[in-house]
Amino acid sequence: MAPVSSQPSSPTASAAGTLAPHAVSRLRAERLQRSTRPFLARGGPKGERCEGCRLRPSHCLCALRPIQATTAGICLLMHDIEALKPSNTGWLIADVVAETFAFAWTRTAVDAGLETLLADPQWQPYVVFPQEFVREPGRAVQQLAQPQVHAMGARRPLFILLDATWPEARKMFRKSPYLDRFPVLSLHPEQLSRYQLRRSKRDDHFCTAEVAALCLDLAGDLRAAQTLETYLDIYTHHYLQAKHQLPPDWSSAAHQQLQSLQNAV
Ligand SMILES: [Zn+2]
Repeated sequence: MAPVSSQPSSPTASAAGTLAPHAVSRLRAERLQRSTRPFLARGGPKGERCEGCRLRPSHCLCALRPIQATTAGICLLMHDIEALKPSNTGWLIADVVAETFAFAWTRTAVDAGLETLLADPQWQPYVVFPQEFVREPGRAVQQLAQPQVHAMGARRPLFILLDATWPEARKMFRKSPYLDRFPVLSLHPEQLSRYQLRRSKRDDHFCTAEVAALCLDLAGDLRAAQTLETYLDIYTHHYLQAKHQLPPDWSSAAHQQLQSLQNAV
């Protein structure tokens, strides 16, 4: 997919053409190619969108994309049209975490690239899912194991997130036998409720990017976790301002927080 360089109408829009498409962006392009009809996004900003961040050119965030090197990796298994939704936050994870992998989930086949990734000894995969759905005794964990050392060094955590609506995610969890051999990381209820309180101003649910931030925090990637949370706040602000045809506040508290996180590198 060729990056689109639209007429810059904000101070940041010109960066869109300089960024290579990330894993979720590539998956979106593949999914669009398979579509027989144009995908009509509901509820998001109307009109022209930046290919780099999916926002209007006037609200483009590409120049702020805060790519971070992390110990952990994130593997997104995305349900059918998830990569096409403008509100999908898996995209933001790929904006921040350099080693984000994204695959389309289907019930009947496993992506060869996903199989290769899951077999790579540098990673210790964890499926991130609530423990009440785990049947096998001892499979659900709430902390990461001490890293096992192998010939290449310590294994790095690879968090597998099922990026879908909640009913779809439950189906994906049940019908992905190739995930059965991995531990299930269930986040602490108190962590979740703390987040929900903090996020109560927003009308969306505990989203994929928030789950990823918690996972990064557990893995010790603290700056990446904070960066992802802050970037999610900024994205939400730009998304909603565009939807309501209002300009973004480029000096909001979240923008300043992101800047100070970047300066601290
Ligand atoms: Zn953009």
